[in-house]
Amino acid sequence: MTIATPVTIALSKGRIFEETVPLLAAAGIAVTEDVEKSRKLIFDTNQPHVRVVLVRASDVPVYVQYGGADLGVSGLDSLIEHGGQGLYQPLDLQIARCRVSVAVRNGFDYAHAVKQGARLRIATKYPEIARHFFAKKGVHVDMVKLYGSMELAPLTGMADAIVDLVSTGNTLKANDLVEVEPIMDISSRLVVNQASLKLKQAPLRHIIDAFAQAVAAKNN
Ligand code: AMP
Repeated sequence: MTIATPVTIALSKGRIFEETVPLLAAAGIAVTEDVEKSRKLIFDTNQPHVRVVLVRASDVPVYVQYGGADLGVSGLDSLIEHGGQGLYQPLDLQIARCRVSVAVRNGFDYAHAVKQGARLRIATKYPEIARHFFAKKGVHVDMVKLYGSMELAPLTGMADAIVDLVSTGNTLKANDLVEVEPIMDISSRLVVNQASLKLKQAPLRHIIDAFAQAVAAKNN
């Protein structure tokens, strides 16, 4: 199918982009430049009416909510922090899988601190996920919002623990941190602007259906 209505897709660089390429291919869409090597933010595709914009992972839901993009691929972590307002979430793409976990400095007795009812200072990029998790556990926390390099917070004594994404665990290990409690499994979701879905039904349905078939085929 040739897509004749303008469609903008928001993606973020790295794992999400790489793992979305085969899904785009299933919908007949190929980005025509090497995204990882370019400083550009808007990319043409082989489909004259389809373009890809590259934004920070946490901004994908924002671009789609406000119509800067018609659809996007967002990690569940970013989606929970955003809140999901104005977004239709038709598909778990089951890509860029990892987990959100609590980690502490090697030697810090987290279980003991929790048992004692200690007030913990948590550094994280994911305050919503962390707040909800510790509230459910009945642990009192002070949240310190960071935007990167969270591993430093326990090492410098700024926080007792971090809440961060963990995949292989190598980053924690390299910084002498240990994962003490998993919070949730993460994968990336397809998010669609609700108004776009009505106004651009045919091309968006085509993309959603092609992605759904590709995800199903990969898991069979
Ligand atoms: P790892 O060393 O494999 O455990 O990866 C952990 C680092 O990679 C952390 O700094 C995470 O923020 C980042 N990371 C891991 N998985 C993902 C993902 N699916 N999406 C975005 N960042 C990730």
